[in-house]
Formats: sequence, structure tokens, C-alpha cells
Amino acid sequence: MSIITLMGLLGVVGITPYAIYRLASGSYLVGVTDSVIVLSTVIAVIYAWRTGDTVKPGVYLAVVFSAGATLIAINLGVNGLFWIYPLILFNFFMVTPGKALLATILVLATLMIYGKVQPQRVFESDYQMVSFLVTGMMAGILSFIFAYRTRNQRDLLQQLAIQDPLTGARNRRAMNEELKIATSLSHRHGNPYGVLIMDLDHFKRINDNHGHQAGDQVLVDFVDLIKRASRKEDRLFRFGGEEFLLLLPNTNRSGLLSAAQQLQEQVGLKLVGPGGPVTMSVGGAILRAGEHWEELLQRADQRLYQAKRAGRNCIIIEDGAMIDEPLAAH
Ligand code: GH3
Ligand code: MG
Ligand code: MG
Repeated sequence: MSIITLMGLLGVVGITPYAIYRLASGSYLVGVTDSVIVLSTVIAVIYAWRTGDTVKPGVYLAVVFSAGATLIAINLGVNGLFWIYPLILFNFFMVTPGKALLATILVLATLMIYGKVQPQRVFESDYQMVSFLVTGMMAGILSFIFAYRTRNQRDLLQQLAIQDPLTGARNRRAMNEELKIATSLSHRHGNPYGVLIMDLDHFKRINDNHGHQAGDQVLVDFVDLIKRASRKEDRLFRFGGEEFLLLLPNTNRSGLLSAAQQLQEQVGLKLVGPGGPVTMSVGGAILRAGEHWEELLQRADQRLYQAKRAGRNCIIIEDGAMIDEPLAAH
């Protein structure tokens, strides 16, 4: 959003004087093209601000600026060609690296074809045309490499910021974010959500008897097992040390209970530590109408506490007193 706004501002401030100058000096085609570019920029920035969508305005601006700059270069010749270089950079700010490179190639190819069909109009000589195409392509390729690397690094950082390094489950930061999104979706559209808090039983003993590394391995195995045994749309988070939260979209109380039973069965069958089978206790709750996500967690946590007190290796889902209430009451 800030890039769209900044680029929009730069476009408007940079091109408006040219639009006025061209219109005043009778160069109408270029003047109108400049004006269309300025107006499109304003519209795209307003659209982005109002909808929060930056992808469509980005593509729109890249297309309008590319077409506009090509038209101006065709009209003004060498003086217009200078604009192609900032255009190449501009596109890499607006759209994905692949699309921006494609736009560069299309703009350069159009200018080359036009230059060949109408000699002396755009380029003064073939030598000038080749120099322009080579430098333009170099600017495009270097920008592509830079944008591509930056994008990969950003994706990696984003991944690291939401992932627990030991188990690969999502971390608590991601959990808070996704619970916030889930509650607002539920309140707006009525989607039912359930959560399960799962805590390994007597985990401390594994560490004490077999070492921290053995404990770590059990955590890794546990996460692999739960990921395999849960649905694709369910999200697993590492809540605390040996405590995990599963967020289940479109799940009512009976669905939550059967999911918990299935997971517990899988853990009972397949999770084996160095000292033998490892079990878990589970507390579950369904999101209530208008409820804050922290209250939901608190309720699930209370059930987990009850499950521990009931002797562990046990599931307690909330009593369901509010279950039949419509979730979209708000
Ligand atoms: P309970 O059945 O009541 O849940 O008992 P517990 O022993 O599982 O629970 P407790 O809260 O007493 O101990 C949790 C232990 O988990 C203590 C802590 O050292 C260990 N732990 C937390 N994070 C990690 C980790 O990343 N790796 C390992 N190996 N151990 C961890
Ligand atoms: Mg425990
Ligand atoms: Mg615990």
C-alpha cells in the first residue's frame, strides 16, 4: 500500500507539469496521454485505499504507464525514450518480477518494431536503437534479479516469523493473528470454529529420564502425527512448551469431539517416546457469538485443566450450554 501510494504520488507530481506543458504547447496526443496517466494513478490509489487490494491497482498502473510511456516515446522520439528507464523500474514496484519483465520485453519490442516500420521516427539510427534495446534489457534483467531475490528473502523471513523452529508448527504469533481473523470471520459470516488445546502427559519425565533431545524428538513426532491426522484446513500452533492448539474451521461441537477422539487415538497408537507410549490430554471449546478469541482460549484451557485433573489421556469439550445459539448473532 505504501509503495502504491508513494509511486502514485511520484507519478502525479512528476507527470502533471508535463501534461500541462504539452497541452499548453499544442502537443495534444502527448498531453492527453499524460493526463490519462495522472488520472489513472489517482483512481488506482483511491481504489487501493478503499478496498485494501493492491494487486489489481498495481497491474492496472503497470499497464497504463507502460502503454502511456510507449506512446509518448513513439511521439517524441529520443526525448521520450528517456522515460522508458524509470518505467522499467516502476513496473517492478507494481507487479510480480515475472510480469514486470514481460512488460519490459513488450515495451522494448513495440518500440523496436515501430522503429523498424517508421525509420527516423523513434530512433535516429540503427546503432542508437540497438544501444537502447541493450541498455533497456539490462535495466530490466538487473531489476528482475533484484526484485526476485528480495521477494524470496521476504517470503523466507515471513515464513520464519510465523514458524516454530523445532517442530515446524505455526508459532504463537501466528496463532494470535489467525485466531483474530477466525473470530472476525465467524462474527461476520457465521462460520463455526472450534479449538482443541492438546498437552502431552508427563512430558517432563521424558526430559528428566532421557534428556532434552529425546523430549525434542517426541515434540517433532507429535506435530508430524497431528498434521497427518487432521484435516487440511485445520491449523496447528505451538501454544507453549509441550502444548499445542488446533484451530478447526467449520466445526461444531460433535465435529470437535470426534476430531479430538481421532487425534487421541492416533497419538495413543503411534506416539512412542524412549520410555514407551506418550499420551495427551485435550481441552476443547467452540467459539461463541461475539466472543473475544482470548476468552475462547481461556475456556479451552479450563477444559484441558479438567482433563488433567480427571487423570490425563482424556478429552473434555465444553458442556455445550451455548452451542445451539446462532454464531452470527452479532
Ligand atoms: P502434565 O501431564 O501435567 O502436563 O505434566 P508435564 O510434565 O507434561 O507438564 P509440565 O508443565 O510439568 O512440564 C512441561 C515440560 O516441558 C517442562 C519443560 O522443560 C518441557 N519443555 C518445554 N519446552 C520444551 C522443548 O522445547 N523441548 C523439550 N525437550 N522440553 C520442553
Ligand atoms: Mg504436559
Ligand atoms: Mg503443559
